[in-house]
Amino acid sequence: MAAAGSFDHRKYKQYQPMSLKDRTWPDKTLNKAPIWCSVDLRDGNQALIQPMSVEQKVTMFNMLVKLGFKQIEIGFPSAAQPEFDFARRLIEENLIPDDVTIQVLVQAREHLIERTFESLRGVKRAIVHVYNSTSTVQRQQTFAMSKEQIAAIAVQGATWVQEYAAKHPETEWTFQYSPESFTGTEIDYAIDVCNQVIETWNPKDTGKVIINLPATVEMSTPNVFADQIEYMCRGLSQRDHVIVSLHTHNDRGCGVAATELGLMAGADRVEGALLGNGERTGNMDIVTLAMNLYSQGIDPELDFSNVQEMIDICTACTNLPVHPRHPWVGELVYTAFSGSHQDAIRKSLQYHSDENLPHWQVAYLPINPADLGRDYEAVVRINSQSGKGGVAHVLERDYGIELPKWMHGHVSQVVQKAAEVSGDEISSKAIHQLFVDNFIETPTQWALNGYSLNSQDNLTIANFKIGDRKFEGKGQGALEALAQAISSELGVELKVTQFDEHALTQGTDSKAISSVCIDVDGKQSVACFIHEDTTTANLQALLSAVGRSGLNLLSQQAESA
Ligand SMILES: [Zn+2]
Repeated sequence: MAAAGSFDHRKYKQYQPMSLKDRTWPDKTLNKAPIWCSVDLRDGNQALIQPMSVEQKVTMFNMLVKLGFKQIEIGFPSAAQPEFDFARRLIEENLIPDDVTIQVLVQAREHLIERTFESLRGVKRAIVHVYNSTSTVQRQQTFAMSKEQIAAIAVQGATWVQEYAAKHPETEWTFQYSPESFTGTEIDYAIDVCNQVIETWNPKDTGKVIINLPATVEMSTPNVFADQIEYMCRGLSQRDHVIVSLHTHNDRGCGVAATELGLMAGADRVEGALLGNGERTGNMDIVTLAMNLYSQGIDPELDFSNVQEMIDICTACTNLPVHPRHPWVGELVYTAFSGSHQDAIRKSLQYHSDENLPHWQVAYLPINPADLGRDYEAVVRINSQSGKGGVAHVLERDYGIELPKWMHGHVSQVVQKAAEVSGDEISSKAIHQLFVDNFIETPTQWALNGYSLNSQDNLTIANFKIGDRKFEGKGQGALEALAQAISSELGVELKVTQFDEHALTQGTDSKAISSVCIDVDGKQSVACFIHEDTTTANLQALLSAVGRSGLNLLSQQAESA
């Protein structure tokens, strides 16, 4: 029995959605990138077991710039000396490119605002982000204040920000306000507070302000969040001079979905962190959102072409691993283990290149992994769960060996057995070795040591030297002549039931691979051989198949002697 009172859903209550009957966002589609703001150095950093050193912050900042972020929240300079020092370092060492704006967070308290402006002295451009908590829970339990008192804090904070900015006219300032815990705030009250802040800043005379709407804790399904955003977008005053920004967290696992629907609902800007770092379950993952756009043919205006470098820097700075199945960038996300998936991928990649399709349309691969600097090597791996197609694909892709379909089962059987024994994945190299050992290696007694062919009345008359014995045979072509020669010499019934030859698609010198399936007294046997001379390849493949069938030339020789 479970401990009394612990796992009991009745202590929770359902989130009450707002009623927006005339919502328009479900009919919208995303067709451009939002304004991105990285909060890796603030929300992301504050949630680390070991916060980043100044050196790590500089490394992270430079990478964010390189990826294409134009707005980067760098911290909370009034909160701690290292945060202040980092702002000074970026400014004094000229590390902020002309087209990049740094953003700093501050509470609506005068001495903190004063210190924040001090940390920004001499910066060309900056966003000052002021916030206070507006949720019912925080009003009642944390501050014990009325709605009016909480709104007054917001307005006072906005006023101070404006006053201190006026003392530093050499900098181009943008103001941002967040009703923190927006999703826990009554929606009409949230509009009221935001509008009081907007009226204080009066952006219609000065440019634009940012109103950031945080799902500080994700509390509802994304559609409810989208309704809230559409309602806010309708209700905010001076809307043309307000950039509506989203800041979602991932408590319910829908941080990205909520942001996507919020953008459909009219938001312009997005705050988030790379790989979803941030408090608790993390901030909205910018990599996932950007790649979602990219995979729909929309320019994400962020460059993830070297995704491994991004991952290496993030993990070095945060000390957090990336899940192997992380959307778009995890180690395993371009790997197919199931045989039917592998087969479909192989055919689809082939079709895609044969038909020269204008848009990427490959089964199970929503994008080309090469776009992210990822290797096709990882697309197909072979283990005991893999099907016939996967093994054939590896041989063709890595060794230019194109096998006929009737060979696939024979080869994959050998590979599957090896995989079952090892209980592990089988590398491409090991697959090739298994193929050579089991289908190409020829016992010396069945080595073709010479042949001559003559045509007579549409028949081929042929002489063969096999091991050190001489054979003579005739038939429609060399292969049939050889089968006839062995049949009559050894007193067996040998028929060629399948035959295939292909030029190797890799390597500098032209070689052919022949595959032969024979039937010897009702018993099937297959083999392959690779040679520059196609006739040699054909004949030796047949002889190898004979050798693999168990026919023994030496004992036959002894008997006949
Ligand atoms: Zn946050």
